[in-house]
Amino acid sequence: MVRDDIIPEGKTLTEHAVVIAGGGPTGLMLAGELALAGVDVAIVERRPSQELAGARAGGLHARTIEVFDQRGIADRFLSQGTVAQVAGYAWIRLDISDAPTRHPYGLAIWQNQIERILAEWIDELGVPMLRGREVTGFTQDDTGVDVELSGGSSLRAAYLVGCDGGRSIVRKAAGIDFPGWDPTISHLIAEVEMTEEPEVGLRNDAHGIHSLSKMDDGTTVRVLLTERSAGRKDEPTLEDLSEALITVYGTDFGVHNPTWLSRFSDMARQAATYRAGRVLLAGDAAHVHYPTGGQGLNTGVQDAVNLGWKLAEVVKGTSPDTLLDTYHAERHPVAANVLQITMAQSALLRPDPFTKALHSNVTELLAMDEPRKRFGAMMSGLDIHYDLGEGHPLLGRRMPDLDLVATSGPLRLFSLLHDARPVLLNVDAPGSIHLAVWADCVRLVDAWTDGPWELPALGMVPAPTAVLIRPDGYVAWVGEGTTNSLHDALATWFGSPPDM
Ligand SMILES: Cc1cc2nc3c(=O)[nH]c(=O)nc-3n(C[C@H](O)[C@H](O)[C@H](O)COP(=O)(O)OP(=O)(O)OC[C@H]3O[C@@H](n4cnc5c(N)ncnc54)[C@H](O)[C@@H]3O)c2cc1C
Repeated sequence: MVRDDIIPEGKTLTEHAVVIAGGGPTGLMLAGELALAGVDVAIVERRPSQELAGARAGGLHARTIEVFDQRGIADRFLSQGTVAQVAGYAWIRLDISDAPTRHPYGLAIWQNQIERILAEWIDELGVPMLRGREVTGFTQDDTGVDVELSGGSSLRAAYLVGCDGGRSIVRKAAGIDFPGWDPTISHLIAEVEMTEEPEVGLRNDAHGIHSLSKMDDGTTVRVLLTERSAGRKDEPTLEDLSEALITVYGTDFGVHNPTWLSRFSDMARQAATYRAGRVLLAGDAAHVHYPTGGQGLNTGVQDAVNLGWKLAEVVKGTSPDTLLDTYHAERHPVAANVLQITMAQSALLRPDPFTKALHSNVTELLAMDEPRKRFGAMMSGLDIHYDLGEGHPLLGRRMPDLDLVATSGPLRLFSLLHDARPVLLNVDAPGSIHLAVWADCVRLVDAWTDGPWELPALGMVPAPTAVLIRPDGYVAWVGEGTTNSLHDALATWFGSPPDM
């Protein structure tokens, strides 16, 4: 059970190293990462329970499954969902079954299941969750942040992370701009009951796609409608839904009793900066876009995994706080690219005959091997490349989950990352590399492997002799017969220990 701590109204009660505003997928993942690193972290969540109205995200991409695998929790998701080829571009299916990963597929699983699994995980890790409370604002000074909560109480933290969704209070209170593009298309989405039998299935018209489907309980109907105009930003009402159904189907099928009613669009916006002093943003608080292609939750979880270990090092004093600037430097371009991908898909899905002709051409193109592999890697997050400078192709890319043979026996590389600590993998002669002053914070593993050293979309790359792997699974340094610049890389990412 997640702890539901009660803070007396009007009282500053607790100090935490990190307070996270929002316990959606991003906030939960970040809390797990920080707790694994031994950081005192708490989540403040507006919802009274993890229950989530409506379906929202319906799947995990391959890289997110890998990220969970790096922490030893992938099986919890795989056992609850359905493995499938879910990667797609503008609804053009991209088969990634030949991608060089242990998980060459996606997972069909609803967001409420994903959140429940993550909430159970962080509960096991002992993260306190203040439920039914909202972050309403904050003030920061040189040493920390006073986080204001609904009801008049507050928390003190060294750092505050806004994982509080697209309408982020933290982003607004920090004065961080959210520039981007206004919507060109808008949808109503709902889960409702209907007195009459609905016309189940997809319907395309000059305005776009509409769909009615029965949910597993046999009575609730999931509704997706394309609206006639894209301008409205307010919360929709049952009357709006009824009118929109009549416009498309000529009847509202006696719609009533909505358990979820929402509106989403292809608006694309991104926070101008992911950091303002001691305040950071992650997930939808930092970027919003069209859901086509299923990128939002996946990007948020991976923001959390990039930020978690860095924030842990800064909080513990191992690294200077400038390490946090690499979070923006690495993750802002990733989401900027996601915005571009979703905007392109939105354009490609327009229902006019000219765009349909273009869509048909792109479908043919993506059936070719090379484009399919490139786009498959892009949509499943396997091609992410952080710019860590010139060098071996592995530098800044995800470390493959190789089969290794260490002195202790055979093991999978990802198992070395379960505790979110950095790893220096030496696949050259055992004992040929030494960690010097980093021996306490980096795990040195001598092992043998025959690869394959194959990267998604890139193909085979030269086998290195050693690799420095960050806790998020990305390669920070590659040895090619020498240890030149290894100490520089260790100092850059894992600080300079005092006795250096
Ligand atoms: C129809 C639809 C389909 C989608 N499909 C996919 C998909 O297939 N794949 C995919 O990857 N993504 C998909 N998404 C996007 C995905 O739902 C979001 O990207 C994801 O939920 C973002 O997670 P988050 O934790 O960053 O934010 P959120 O899920 O919005 O979580 C924010 C949390 O913060 C809480 N909160 C808000 N304000 C405060 C406050 N002031 N104080 C305390 N708590 C607060 C909220 O209650 C919430 O729990 C879809 C979205 C929609 C609408």
